Amino acid sequence: MNEERPLALLGGTFDPIHNAHLRVAWEAAEQLDADVRLLPARVPPHREQPVASAQQRVALVQAALRGQDRLTLDARELQREGPSYTIDTLIEIRAEIGEVRPLVLLIGADAFAGLPSWHRWSELFAHTHIGVLTRPGHGSQLPTELRTRIASRRATDARALRESPSGRVLWLPVTPLEISATQVRDLLAAGREPRWLVPDALFADPALLGPYRSAQA
Ligand code: ATP
Repeated sequence: MNEERPLALLGGTFDPIHNAHLRVAWEAAEQLDADVRLLPARVPPHREQPVASAQQRVALVQAALRGQDRLTLDARELQREGPSYTIDTLIEIRAEIGEVRPLVLLIGADAFAGLPSWHRWSELFAHTHIGVLTRPGHGSQLPTELRTRIASRRATDARALRESPSGRVLWLPVTPLEISATQVRDLLAAGREPRWLVPDALFADPALLGPYRSAQA
């Protein structure tokens, strides 16, 4: 059994960060007894661009995280030039934390179903465990390729993730919160307030949610 607390990572566009991101990250931290880093992604130029810039998304995450220290920000992907692949980030973080500490990549059930389209996806398991966060409207229906690949990796409880640094897949049932960044952006673009869908701290400085308000037609 590993004595070190696992380190968990929740990647995402965070355009903008919302309460479901925070709540599911918090529940994962508690269920896994882990520290959790939020890892905003750089979006490659050929993909649909976020409404807010990298800097604005970081400011939103920083505001949302203020007042606690169990969830932290890791902005490395935004500082790196060129395409940003999860596999590269994991290799980098693994080198920093050493070979032994359990690393857990947290992925919402919707994103997990798309894992086979990720760059060098089958190599992920050599560097990390995966924690799949349940999400309303997204069942456990998985592509056959993915189902087959993870069959022998399924863990049934959080303790199993402390027995090795990487390689297992655990479903993490979290409070179903039907909130998405798309919904928050749509409300703001329509001139409405996404109160209590995002942390209050995001309203403290009008500049924070400004990019979405000015998206109004
Ligand atoms: P968008 O609506 O722009 O697609 P999103 O709300 O899905 O955004 P992302 O930044 O893409 O937000 O999500 C980051 C990670 O958090 C992903 O792994 C995603 O599956 C997970 N996630 C987001 N919202 C929820 C939720 N309500 N419940 C569980 N997981 C979630």
